Amino acid sequence: MRRYKDIPLWKNVSPKQWTDWKWQVRNRIMDVDTLAQVINLTDEEEKEIRDSMKYLRMAITPYYATLMDPDDPHDPVRRQAVPTSNEVQIKKYEMLDSVGETVDSPHEGLTHRYPDRVLLLLTDQCSMYCRHCCRRRIVGQTDHQRSWEEIKEGIDYIRETPEVRDVLLSGGDPLMVSDEFLEKVIREVRKIKHVQIVRLGSRTPVVLPYRITPSLVKMLRKYHPVWLNTHFNHPKEITPVSKRAVETLVDAGIPVGNQTVLLKGVNDCVTIMKKLCQDLTSIRCRPYYIYQCDIARGLEHFRTSTAKGFEIIESLRGHTSGFAVPEFIIDAPTGGGKIPISPNYVISMSDKMIVLRNYEGGIFSFPEPEGDRTSVCPPSCKMCKQYPELESKEGVAGVLAGKKMCLIPEGSLREARRKAYHKESKHSGKCHDF
Ligand SMILES: *Cc1c(COP(=O)(O)O)cnc(C)c1O
Ligand code: SF4
Repeated sequence: MRRYKDIPLWKNVSPKQWTDWKWQVRNRIMDVDTLAQVINLTDEEEKEIRDSMKYLRMAITPYYATLMDPDDPHDPVRRQAVPTSNEVQIKKYEMLDSVGETVDSPHEGLTHRYPDRVLLLLTDQCSMYCRHCCRRRIVGQTDHQRSWEEIKEGIDYIRETPEVRDVLLSGGDPLMVSDEFLEKVIREVRKIKHVQIVRLGSRTPVVLPYRITPSLVKMLRKYHPVWLNTHFNHPKEITPVSKRAVETLVDAGIPVGNQTVLLKGVNDCVTIMKKLCQDLTSIRCRPYYIYQCDIARGLEHFRTSTAKGFEIIESLRGHTSGFAVPEFIIDAPTGGGKIPISPNYVISMSDKMIVLRNYEGGIFSFPEPEGDRTSVCPPSCKMCKQYPELESKEGVAGVLAGKKMCLIPEGSLREARRKAYHKESKHSGKCHDF
């Protein structure tokens, strides 16, 4: 981390200005000439930046810029912040909405994909535009927050949808809005009885840590339970300032998790990831997810093989604290959602035992109980009656719970054939539900 006073562009900036998040936002690096005063760029690099800014604007907070190595184009912080011509290379399979957020969107800016939680976007603005951003179809387009009227439509939807118990405020970066506006949103969401938790997804602890002010956390803690997930990608991003930001949140009772994206040339390495996950736990930030990089437009150069993620999880599980091990996720295109994948620890099983391997590669058996193995409800238990909403009705859990016998993909040729065979009879040709 460089001292900002040593960079001529900022030599007259006072510490009070430097640590003021609004000053940091106003003074983001948005053009090549300013950037060239902070890091050394070749003519070729300057041209590349100008070309690729057409797709996703450039903005780098002065704070984050001080983490960049001025001379190394492969610096992991620089790779996340400075555009390259790679972003202009579009592959055939790449998509604008790579995870299908719009298909599950009843209102603009609200995605309801999973049974009990929704994503509500407050703004398309971020303090720093990550070069690997997969929401680039919306992020940075206007560099503005969404209007209260638009957000209110999303909140109305949440009010009318009793199964929503977890509201994830996102963007862009939801901490780019003022404390007052954010409080207005959270207060309104909190009035809804069925909303159990409010979550923020914000990269500010990493790229604009001065945003985490005592007054912000004082406001947030009034609306507990509030959780926050942030986005550290490299141990170099853990600095005394970002550490303080995370600690301020956690001290206010806000659990902080981390969502990393696996990025080629940034963190696609067992050593880097292990260091990142361990260092995160030492600032009380819990590694939550590692994402396989999405197939959003212009991100091919950041993508690694999925195997790299397996190798990383293999190097963590058992080798370090359990809570330092995140889950490895592929967010499936066209709305499939997050799918966890992990090395396999089950070798085989019989009706007498399961055979497992541990992280050392040792093989162990674990006996099944010999008597009746069927779970039986204690006669006095009233939990299912009391909480019918907790019952597994959908998905594979629904099949296990005996609610469905099978799940057949809609639109398959097989389904069409069945429908044709059974057109005449009463039988629907569908797999029946219990
Ligand atoms: C990631 C995501 C969530 C939250 O998922 P968790 O696994 O609970 O963290 C909710 N909605 C959408 C659309 C998401 O992409
Ligand atoms: S903080 Fe998130 S939404 Fe914003 S640019 Fe980075 S990846 Fe995209």
